[in-house]
Amino acid sequence: MGEFEEGGFQGGGFGEREKHKATCSECGKECEVPFKPTPGREVFCTDCWRKRKPRRF
Ligand SMILES: [Zn+2]
Repeated sequence: MGEFEEGGFQGGGFGEREKHKATCSECGKECEVPFKPTPGREVFCTDCWRKRKPRRF
């Protein structure tokens, strides 16, 4: 034990989690999203995202 390092899987490169600041279209709260917000497209914070998620299953 001792070779267990954080982010040691997949050799990196794809593990970068860039966060982009955005404003939630639902509540207007500032939030961070793991993708680049597209102008004109709605962005939701985690709370509103969950609320909007359709419960079909
Ligand atoms: Zn929100």
